Amino acid sequence: MKTIDDYNFDGKKALIRVDFNVPLDSDFNVTDTSRIEAAKPTILKVLEDGGSAILMSHLGRPKGKVNPDMSLSHICETVSEIIGVQVKFAGNCVGKVADDAVAELKSGEVLLLENLRFHAEEEAGDTSFAEALAKHGDIYINDAFGTAHRAHASTTIVAQFFPGNKCFGYLLAKEIKAIEKVMQTGEKPVTAILGGAKVSSKITIIENILDKVDNLIIGGGMTYTFVKAKGGSVGDSICEDDKMDLALDILKQAEAKGVKVHIPVDVLAADAFDNNANTQFVDVDKIPDGWQGLDAGPKTLENFKEVILNSKTILWNGPVGVFEMENFAQGTIAIGNYIDEATQKGAFSLVGGGDSVAAVKQFGFEDKVSYVSTGGGAMLESLEGRTLPGIAAILD
Ligand code: AMP
Repeated sequence: MKTIDDYNFDGKKALIRVDFNVPLDSDFNVTDTSRIEAAKPTILKVLEDGGSAILMSHLGRPKGKVNPDMSLSHICETVSEIIGVQVKFAGNCVGKVADDAVAELKSGEVLLLENLRFHAEEEAGDTSFAEALAKHGDIYINDAFGTAHRAHASTTIVAQFFPGNKCFGYLLAKEIKAIEKVMQTGEKPVTAILGGAKVSSKITIIENILDKVDNLIIGGGMTYTFVKAKGGSVGDSICEDDKMDLALDILKQAEAKGVKVHIPVDVLAADAFDNNANTQFVDVDKIPDGWQGLDAGPKTLENFKEVILNSKTILWNGPVGVFEMENFAQGTIAIGNYIDEATQKGAFSLVGGGDSVAAVKQFGFEDKVSYVSTGGGAMLESLEGRTLPGIAAILD
């Protein structure tokens, strides 16, 4: 796997695909700078070698049209502050404006190109557009894990114009290694904790990881499809009746593969999907009509705790309750605490995919787990066992 450490950028122009798709407030201030900070080491390596950096990214969903609200010019000052270099800005990512700005760029300088998605060709993966981008650099670096699952012009197609001169940035390399550590080289016992709303959105992940884990903890809304399939009463809990056969099949596959599946035994049930609803702890298979399970119960959490504390490698994807409501967040917080404890004891813990990162950030677990993935969809696709096009294009 080639990373930027295999290159010396002295006198070279590095074309870097970053993920600067950051949240902005109504005054266009960046409200979360983590994605910019995540790209900083890669940019600094290029500059410290004596090269110059041309940064390209998308911001929002302008759908192929110029939209001043989604201009990357809004973030130029924030990027400058974080990188510690005054970043120049080109009002277009291709064409004369961009070409001229690139031509003037000197060693040690950084140029930020305007939003790639102002051109429909970006998401279409257009080859001529990719070639126009490729003209800007001597070496292509992909450091945008968040878009590595998209075969867009700047994430994938552009790489073909850099045979022998393309590599992963530090961030993308770190993401790839973290996934490998869980899915291939993880120390046993390996435990996956899968929560979230629906079996249907996690099924491919479950099928893929059954070959790689020793324990599978199932929590959250998915629980009830499994419980009902096994003959339990789940009351008004979220349940996918058409996925019950699938749930039984997963349990059978797990047994055949020697994977221990841990499902909640008790839950915090509520009489409405509301933070202020009446609640009671009930056995997971005896939820009365009119009640729905919205969080894990104490016996369940004790069981999960034991499994997690005995694990050496932990993957966490999806909350075990409706964590957005304070009264149903305790289970998810407890899981975070157990993973924290296991990590302190030496386990490797990876959190990522979909909403998991939001939960982790909200409860302050970010610095307590070994690695928090920066890519929601890209992480989910990796866990499903798919080769991401943006990664394949570099390895090519
Ligand atoms: P996902 O994006 O699939 O990881 O799902 C995350 C969502 O699952 C969160 O918004 C949670 O509120 C929701 N969720 C977790 N547990 C439950 C539950 N018992 N009932 C309904 N939704 C749930």
